[in-house]
Amino acid sequence: MPDLGKLMDIVASRIIAHAEELTALDSAIGDADHGLNMKRGFDAVLADRANILAKPLPEALKAIGMTLVMKVGGASGPLYGTLFMALAKELPAEPSLANLARALTAAVDAVKARGKADFDNKTMLDVLGPVARHLGNGTATFDSVRELAHSRAEATVPMKAIRGRASFLGERSIGHMDPGARSSELMIAAVCDGLEGKE
Ligand code: ADP
Ligand code: MG
Repeated sequence: MPDLGKLMDIVASRIIAHAEELTALDSAIGDADHGLNMKRGFDAVLADRANILAKPLPEALKAIGMTLVMKVGGASGPLYGTLFMALAKELPAEPSLANLARALTAAVDAVKARGKADFDNKTMLDVLGPVARHLGNGTATFDSVRELAHSRAEATVPMKAIRGRASFLGERSIGHMDPGARSSELMIAAVCDGLEGKE
């Protein structure tokens, strides 16, 4: 059973450490707040750490999702909140890799529905969707998941944004990495590192 406290700490500290980078990405095609938004959300998660860790995994994920909805704000708060709350609904207290793949697929569908977005719209979904599919095919390793998340975030650079604030820029959104794709990559890499016992 993975140590939820350790996973929470590594995900939160990674996002907080990259807040300036995320905000810089958002300053190119958005309103320069994605890193600030995410830092505020994960600071609040850490502040509620003891309460969250007293709960079984599904309830803990639900509490994290609700905190993100309330504290992150912007478009990404409700969307990441939906992701965690959908994982909470789908995952048993002691999940297997197969449980995780299925739950992430369902959570990605929930984010798609919440944001009325699809793949290739230049959003977080362009990282989360491929990773969910990859986990389901039975060949995933920590390295392959980290590499896929990285390459899918990079793949948002040449895309034209169809959803979110970046879509207001039309063609001018081309040539920049989507900030939400990068924050998703950071979270996925952090979970891999935490499960693998890296710092
Ligand atoms: P805001 O755009 O309201 O300022 P943030 O800057 O915190 O919110 O988050 C922006 C990120 O949210 C984008 O980079 C994108 O990945 C994600 N996003 C925005 N709209 C959607 C949507 N409809 N579906 C999926 N992801 C979205
Ligand atoms: Mg923004």
